[in-house]
Amino acid sequence: MISKCPTCNNQVKSDNKHLPFCSERCRLIDLGDWLAGNYSVVEQDHPETWIESENSDTRH
Ligand SMILES: [Zn+2]
Repeated sequence: MISKCPTCNNQVKSDNKHLPFCSERCRLIDLGDWLAGNYSVVEQDHPETWIESENSDTRH
């Protein structure tokens, strides 16, 4: 059974120890992307909450 590496779309054999990735490098790249996206979401979420609570405060 052969699957595709999510990072570079190369074929990955089922006996590859880095499954579902073709290599550790691709695994780390994918993990880094995921962490970067996750952090930016968290950072964007916080200021928005602050701005919203400040706006509702000035309306009063
Ligand atoms: Zn790869």
